[in-house]
Formats: sequence, C-alpha cells, structure tokens
Amino acid sequence: MADRSQRLWRVYEKSPVGLKNAVATARGAWDRQRRYGPYFRSHRLALEESQWWTPEHQVVALGERLRRFVHRAATTVPYYRDVFVRLELSSDSIREVEDLRRLPLLDAETVRKEYERLQPEADDAAPAMLLRTPGPENRSVPVPLSEECFQREWAFRWQQLAWHGVRPGERIATLADDPLVVTLGPEPPFWVVNHAEAELLLSHRRLNERTLPLYAERLSAWKPALLHGPPTALAALAEGLRDLDHAPLQPKVVIAEGETLTWEQRAAIELQFQCKAAYFYSNAQMVAHVAECEHGSLHIRPEHSLVELLNERGEPAQPGEPAEIVGTGFGNISFPLIRLRTGDGAVMAERPCVCNRGGLTLRSLTLGAFRPAAAEEPEAAVAEAA
Ligand SMILES: [Zn+2]
Repeated sequence: MADRSQRLWRVYEKSPVGLKNAVATARGAWDRQRRYGPYFRSHRLALEESQWWTPEHQVVALGERLRRFVHRAATTVPYYRDVFVRLELSSDSIREVEDLRRLPLLDAETVRKEYERLQPEADDAAPAMLLRTPGPENRSVPVPLSEECFQREWAFRWQQLAWHGVRPGERIATLADDPLVVTLGPEPPFWVVNHAEAELLLSHRRLNERTLPLYAERLSAWKPALLHGPPTALAALAEGLRDLDHAPLQPKVVIAEGETLTWEQRAAIELQFQCKAAYFYSNAQMVAHVAECEHGSLHIRPEHSLVELLNERGEPAQPGEPAEIVGTGFGNISFPLIRLRTGDGAVMAERPCVCNRGGLTLRSLTLGAFRPAAAEEPEAAVAEAA
C-alpha cells in the first residue's frame, strides 16, 4: 500500500503544472464536501448568535453541554465507566463545571495506553475519520472524529475568518507543508492552485533567498484576502519581502497557527503585510479552541469545549499566572476526552475583551510549555496577544 502511494506521488511529481492543479482542485472539491455539510451550516448559524450571549447564559449552556457529554462518556466508554465505579460516582453526578474536578486529569500517556477502552460502545459514535496528533509515529495517536465534530471545527474556523472580514469564496494563500507541495521539485513553480477553494497552496520548505522573488511575484498576482500558515514561515516570508522592498500585499488578515506566535514574528508580519496578524489554536483531540478576534484578544471559545487553566500545583490559575490548558471537548462523541492535559501553556488576561464576546481571554499562549521533560520537545517561545 505504501509502495503504491509512493509510486502515485512520483507520478504526481513528474506531471505538468496543469495536472497538478487539477489534482489540488479535485482534493479541494472533496474537502469542501466533507467540511461544509449540514453540521457546518447549523453550527455556523448557532455560533453567530451564541458569541454574543451574556456570561451567565454561557455558563448555563456550558453546564448543559457538560452534563450531557459526561453522562454519555460515563455510560458508553469502558475507561470512564471504570473511573466512575472506582470513584463511586453516579453517571449524572457531574452537574456543574466545578464538579468536573472530581474526575482525574487525563494525560497523553494514558490516552495511548487506554486507547481501545476510550472508544465508546454506542452505535451512533462511529467515527467518520481519524486525525493524527503531531509527533513521531510511535507517540502520535489517531484520534477518531465524528462527522459533526469535524464540520463543527470548520464552523469555528470560518467564524474567526468572518471576524476579520474574510468571506467564503475570497482568495486564500496557504503556506503549507502539505503533500501536494512538499513533493514539488527544486524547480518552480513551488505552488499549486486549488480552484475549488480559490486557494494558492505554496510550499514553505522551498521558500529561500533564491526563490523569494518568485513567491513575491505569484502572491502579488494572486492578491489573497487571507494568508495563513505557521508563524515561522509567515515571518520568514514577511522579512524576505521587506528586504526585497516589496509592496505590501495587504490581505484582510494573516492567520498564524500550528506553532507559538512570538511578538517579534507578529510585528514582522503586520509591518510587511499591512494588516492584522491573528492567532488560531486548536488540537487534534478537539479539546480546546482559541481564536484571536479583530481587537487582538485570544478568546477561549466556550461553545467548543470546557477549558480549565491549571497552575503548576494543579489548581485553577489566577489572571497573570502561568497555567496549563486542560480541555474537555464536547464536540467529539467518537472519542470523548475529559480533562485532557494538552501540555500547552497559557496566561489568563486580567480584563475581558472590548468586543464583548463571551468566555475567558488569554494574555498569551505557549505551545508545549507544560510538556514533560521526557517528551524531548523543542523549547517554545511565547505568543502574546496583540
Ligand atoms: Zn475580542
């Protein structure tokens, strides 16, 4: 199977540009169908309304989602059934956010060890797909995702894009580490066009001093409303274009994701592209979702999941105190995870955002800040809210 796939990639590599674009467009059309189905539309509509709920309304809604989710996990997931028996708790004993602390924290090692017993026995919980957590093969875990969870995630993503004025159908430029561009050879073009989603997919691995003028020319012609990718690639592009004295591209927004965004990277991006850089945080386990709004606040989305910020003693952190993001994702009935330690660090902001959207906001978010030393993760820098 692996051989066959490698052969196919070699054929793709050698094919003409038009055929590569056709492959990217066909995959884009397939992605569109999977992402923007009925669950996407219903969540997108619901989020438009719920983002303006009062804090009291958000707390009531969060409690309801929590009760339903935990009850389901306690009755259908072998691992949680045992936890509730061991702790002598009934399946409906978790009624409020505070009650959740009666349940133990879950770490990545336990998820790996208890992988089979974390899968629900319910008939309606069959996953639509598997999404791998990042990391080397022996540590990465395939997370079963329900169709609703997957489409809901895209509803959250598009809501953030709407906050920054990006509309569906507008042009997108993506600095990607995607197989469609990773496999491109050392000669230009270093990008493919996905016409189904008006997306220019550019290889960030091929971006260097020699190739930069070509990227500059292609991006100027493409005129994206949205530019997104990992912060290191976006900052390298911004700095390269600055050195070329290239005219600002002026997309509506640059979305940075997948790594920590440092304030130096943010400054370089905003200066060169003459627009706001906004951060986006999520994870394959779907237990937390943080999106930066147009006013520069990192919003924890309460409709998505219950995020606890726990300090080094495992207690709820105060504003300004370094904390770990611990998440309970309500969205994924195919692999319910309660109080998952993400290993990512965050500092709660002192004040709510002026935009008046509900939920807590963060002052900073640092990927991997709380990862155990044994995981041998590279040192991470800090993403500051603007
Ligand atoms: Zn805001």
